[in-house]
Amino acid sequence: MSQHAASEAVMVWAGPRMHLVQYPVRRGELYNQVAVFESDHYTPDSDAWGTGAELEERFAGACRTVRDALPLIARDRRWPLFDRLPTDKWVHGRIALLGDAAHPMLQYLAQGACQALEDAVALGRALGRFSDPADAFAAYAGQRRERAARIQTGARRFGEICHLEGMGATLRNALFASRGPDDFDDVSWVWTPAPAAVTAP
Ligand SMILES: Cc1cc2nc3c(=O)[nH]c(=O)nc-3n(C[C@H](O)[C@H](O)[C@H](O)COP(=O)(O)OP(=O)(O)OC[C@H]3O[C@@H](n4cnc5c(N)ncnc54)[C@H](O)[C@@H]3O)c2cc1C
Repeated sequence: MSQHAASEAVMVWAGPRMHLVQYPVRRGELYNQVAVFESDHYTPDSDAWGTGAELEERFAGACRTVRDALPLIARDRRWPLFDRLPTDKWVHGRIALLGDAAHPMLQYLAQGACQALEDAVALGRALGRFSDPADAFAAYAGQRRERAARIQTGARRFGEICHLEGMGATLRNALFASRGPDDFDDVSWVWTPAPAAVTAP
């Protein structure tokens, strides 16, 4: 990969129950870095998880490039990660869910906002096609449920692959090493062909 291509790429450094993702944003003016790890200290009623100290501890055994990146990571924000299993209950009477309310997903495919936008397009078009909102809601949910569910569960799976330990990690590394940097076969279904929600008249 040329230096130029590398600087524009999304870089993911995978480790046991953790990873670091790096990519340029705002036309390369900013470089975004997010460190993710499964905290050993998480409890819902405490704030003592995911601290800077735990970040340092968990990434202490990482390779040099990752350790060099750590001091440049802002420590002022952190997010616990939640998802849910797909649900069929997108519509209830005059209420239709969309976005995270309909399909909360983990971030590993970077699709949360993308799927919310696809929902919005599909819902807008359905409301334009049917005079009765109940028909529009049913058509919208029918069009979107399966794809959103596939991405929701796919994101979780991708995270599990990223955080593998031991033999699983060895197999993952061997598989990834056999791929070229432009080989997106495993995830290209997310982006191609263009989603029906966007292409439908
Ligand atoms: C750090 C981070 C990085 C992300 N990166 C990506 C990415 O690269 N790509 C991607 O596609 N997605 C990404 N996402 C996910 C994306 O932000 C969400 O999936 C998306 O914002 C969901 O949109 P939404 O409209 O469903 O919900 P939200 O954006 O959460 O909007 C819900 C709104 O409702 C408001 N609200 C809540 N309760 C009430 C109430 N009772 N009354 C009135 N208003 C209320 C909230 O204040 C909020 O403004 C990222 C998320 C995070 C946290």
